[in-house]
Amino acid sequence: MAATSYRVQPGDTLSGIAVRAGVTVAQLRAANPALRDANSVQAGRVLNLPGRVLPATRYRVKEGENLTVIAQRAGLTLTQLVRANPKYAGGKPVWAGAVIQIPARTVAARTGTAATVRPAAIRVNSSAPAPSSSSGRWLWPVAGYHSISSDYGSRVLDGVREMHYGVDIVAPTGTLVRAARSGRVLESRPDFDRGWGWTVVLEHPDGWITRYAHLSANLAKQGELVTRGQPIGRVGNTGRSTGPHLHYGTYLRWNPRDPLSLY
Ligand SMILES: [Zn+2]
Repeated sequence: MAATSYRVQPGDTLSGIAVRAGVTVAQLRAANPALRDANSVQAGRVLNLPGRVLPATRYRVKEGENLTVIAQRAGLTLTQLVRANPKYAGGKPVWAGAVIQIPARTVAARTGTAATVRPAAIRVNSSAPAPSSSSGRWLWPVAGYHSISSDYGSRVLDGVREMHYGVDIVAPTGTLVRAARSGRVLESRPDFDRGWGWTVVLEHPDGWITRYAHLSANLAKQGELVTRGQPIGRVGNTGRSTGPHLHYGTYLRWNPRDPLSLY
């Protein structure tokens, strides 16, 4: 598994290719029977680069990281990483300082010339969330509705001054709410204690978190991976809410940020 092809560049040597691919010359020969007796290799020839087996290890989670990021970097799917760390099944978030198990895995050989290493070649797991060029951009969660009934910041509600960590977007009950970015569902549940009503919370691969609240329906399950634009709920009026709207909150490592600053 995890074989990659590589076109030999002028000046390449077998040992140089092997080193860059993270394999031994013997492994390189084994994957390319035509090289068995060769000591040099011609430019333009296409070689199979065997996968590299990486041993199991432990990893201490750093500030702002989450399981999605760590899995991608390790060449694992999120499912594989969670299977090795069952206490994080079901969408439980991981915090900085936690030690997680990275299981042994086979990853594709690195390809590229001495000057360039193409990161795309490292990807092996098609089921891992794809880091597409659009994944970093923020999608407005309710298409066509841009009227804000309550801005981010200090406000007075029911005679009490409070901080409003998000924006209230006016939209009819039932309007589809879409994931602003790809990520993992941290919460999908009723949270009437804190006034959110039915709410969905997503974590994104770089430490951002988004909350969608007062929903009439939740369309994503806790622990599920969602892609940017995927419907995750419907606008409603549940919880502490005075009319149909979407409360949309954005946080960087749980520090609130004004969603409108991201668009
Ligand atoms: Zn709100």
